[in-house]
Amino acid sequence: MIGERGAGSAEGERGAPREGGAGSAEGERGSPPGHHPRTTVTLANLGGMALTPSDDGFETRAIHAGQDPDPRTGAVVPPIYATSTYVQDGVGGLREGYEYSRSANPTRTALEECLASLENGVRGLAFASGLAAEDSLLRTVCAPGDHVVAPDDAYGGSSRLFEKVLRPWGLEHTPVAFSDLDAVRAAVRAGSTRVLWVETPTNPLLGIADIEALAGIAHEAGALLVVDNTFASPYLQQPLTLGADVVVHSTTKYCGGHSDVIGGALVVADHELGERLAFMHNAVGAVAGPFDAWLVLRGLRTLAVRMERHCDNAERVVEFLGSRPEVSQVLYPGLPEFPGHVVARRQMRRFGGMVAFRLQGGEAAALEVVERSRVFTLAESLGGVESLIEHPGRMTHASVAGSPLEVPSDLVRLSVGIETADDLVADLAHALDGGA
Ligand code: PLP
Repeated sequence: MIGERGAGSAEGERGAPREGGAGSAEGERGSPPGHHPRTTVTLANLGGMALTPSDDGFETRAIHAGQDPDPRTGAVVPPIYATSTYVQDGVGGLREGYEYSRSANPTRTALEECLASLENGVRGLAFASGLAAEDSLLRTVCAPGDHVVAPDDAYGGSSRLFEKVLRPWGLEHTPVAFSDLDAVRAAVRAGSTRVLWVETPTNPLLGIADIEALAGIAHEAGALLVVDNTFASPYLQQPLTLGADVVVHSTTKYCGGHSDVIGGALVVADHELGERLAFMHNAVGAVAGPFDAWLVLRGLRTLAVRMERHCDNAERVVEFLGSRPEVSQVLYPGLPEFPGHVVARRQMRRFGGMVAFRLQGGEAAALEVVERSRVFTLAESLGGVESLIEHPGRMTHASVAGSPLEVPSDLVRLSVGIETADDLVADLAHALDGGA
């Protein structure tokens, strides 16, 4: 790829309308609202690279999509392109469309291609964090005065974004329980609801939303269905296939999988929306850096095997917790009695590595359990190979304390890792023995 001039690359990038007329390109990409979409920088249309065909299996695409060996050196793993800018062969003579790394960077392109393939979308965009992706998405598809239907049980940071950042900007939102389709219909405001924003499973209560049914409600209202797929990962659930318009990820979690990077992503089913988002991606610049993109891409290659083991271990942990008298309730979509289980079984391959439970002894017992575990590390975040434990009320969801979105104080959340299952069960037994 390096040193080869991809046919048509310069024309595709430079020939498009520019905002502001003259001046350097630095970071022109995507189409401002109202402009025609133009050719974009992807490995598919630049450099003549063959994309892995989409009928390959998930694991094959995770390892190969967007990741053809480097044509110049043969490097099997996409290099980390630590560069901010790219030489031009004469003014506007871009090599494979690369111009400035806020607009596009080959390492990020590789990740974006892979994510798009795994989510069965047409376009992926990699961001600096999950929240950066959310913010860029909402400010692309909504305007001040618009309205969003949001979960009443969402990641605390997403709720904070809605309440503290986007509400002052002029975006109204109504929190609802997405498991209640009538409540969702009632919350939709004709003419102003632009987005139904869904998390499934939710953080931290593992609530399940019926993606297919919600896509119907959203589209009837002329709104987009956005699904935060962070908890399931593309291996367990592919919302675009079920009718969603946009998938959001905190790639910090299962996609990265090793708790060593912060990242986010959007994947869309529609080229025109992809162009509008690419414009915002570049115009605001909340992009993933090349090293971060490389780490997430490395994580994606093992996503399938990690998720299988996360699910195996979570099932062992759930079975154990259900046998303990100190535990008043186990929340896991794989439990037949769990509300949403039937929907989860229909739309997910398995039920994931996230488990929550409530304690008979209330908040004091919950705090004691999270402080006594040893293999389960007391920390925020989730989706890494190591098991984590936390108290959502005082940690990840502290920002919604005192609001209707407050989570129960006797709740403990587990991100079940891929360690030896017996060790995980023994660790929880020890923690519960002290927290009874
Ligand atoms: N969505 C969900 C479901 C999350 O759990 C998180 C973070 O925990 C985010 C979005 C935000 O992602 P990030 O922390 O990468 O900004």
